[in-house]
Amino acid sequence: MQLKSKLADVGITIFAIMSQLAREQGAINLSQGFPDFNTNPELIQLVEKYMRAECNQYAPMQGVPQLRERIAEKASRLYQAKYNPDTEITITAGATEALFAAISAVVQTDDEVIIFEPAYDAYMPVVKLNGGIPRFLKLKFPDYHIDWNEVKDIITSKTKLIILNSPHNPTGTVLSATDMQSLQEIVRNKNIFIISDEVYEHIIFDNLKHESLAGYPELAQRSFVISSFGKTYHTTGWKTGYCLAPAGLSAEFQKIHQFLTFAVNTPIQYAYAKILEQPELYLNLAQFYQQKRDLFLNLLDSSRFKILACKGTYFQMLDYSAISSLPDIEFARDLTAKYKVAAIPPSVFYHKQDDHKVLRFCFAKKDETLKEAAQILCKI
Ligand code: PMP
Ligand code: GLN
Repeated sequence: MQLKSKLADVGITIFAIMSQLAREQGAINLSQGFPDFNTNPELIQLVEKYMRAECNQYAPMQGVPQLRERIAEKASRLYQAKYNPDTEITITAGATEALFAAISAVVQTDDEVIIFEPAYDAYMPVVKLNGGIPRFLKLKFPDYHIDWNEVKDIITSKTKLIILNSPHNPTGTVLSATDMQSLQEIVRNKNIFIISDEVYEHIIFDNLKHESLAGYPELAQRSFVISSFGKTYHTTGWKTGYCLAPAGLSAEFQKIHQFLTFAVNTPIQYAYAKILEQPELYLNLAQFYQQKRDLFLNLLDSSRFKILACKGTYFQMLDYSAISSLPDIEFARDLTAKYKVAAIPPSVFYHKQDDHKVLRFCFAKKDETLKEAAQILCKI
């Protein structure tokens, strides 16, 4: 049987490829973004508690009420945002499902969608599956800022959606209050929606403040704000995230969510609801990861890699142009096979495979892992 592909240009995601290569080559895996240390034991105990308390059947389609209430409180405390837990918050199977549902809720045939490159690889394929047309804009190398004049210029009567991501994967940049003002002016009085991927909202450094779209009422009324507990609680494998959006947008979102997964696993939702009662756990995350970033960068001091700015996320971009002129995909393969350190080549996050001779390294790792990897990187 021959199947006509809806995603002819899309291959297997780089995260699966590099993690498999790292396993095959016995390399230290700084490619796919996940911690190599365990989550909080209290969270595990909570999951067990709720499993034993027979919270093992379907959760409500939108998510368990306690979790939606705790999320509403967090959004209010951190961003002064008002989301009604009954109608404006949906728990999803990771941010990935939320992205799929939000993009599908908005995009219709021939709608144009502005995507900034390098772009996390889950955006463009979903736009295309929905018949949308991606309009790519580049973040300006090497600090990867948005040129808002370019955004203004690319908008047409067909522009339906802008997808934002801050703190930004893979570059580690963050959007500022000035960026928010520019965006606000550009979309004012236009029928343009926004998806704001904020999965790294709590991983932001050097006393910078995360600018959530939820905190800008004029923007929030047209936005789907998406986050993930996987990043915040070192539980990427539990695949639980959420989407905040005004009631009308959430209603359309939930029409899709109910047929993607219907509901997310129940005991983990109760456990997250309980652990969210301790805000210090997510508020201290920035400091925890800033120490890891600083350790990694200090260890690389004598290396020939050039360090790019990292203001948030748990990814560090390193420029290898003093070491090799190989394209980043080849250099990443060599690094994994010969030197036994795996990283992500960011050219895969561009539709035209732009190659700046940088690699993305994940520093969500034990200090020993970072030391071992840095020792190798310093010898190259
Ligand atoms: N968006 C970005 C920018 C990410 O980096 C990730 C995963 N690392 C996701 C979305 C997906 O999150 P989840 O694992 O919760 O589906
Ligand atoms: N978001 C993670 C990263 O950027 C990986 C997610 C995945 O493997 N799908 O590395």
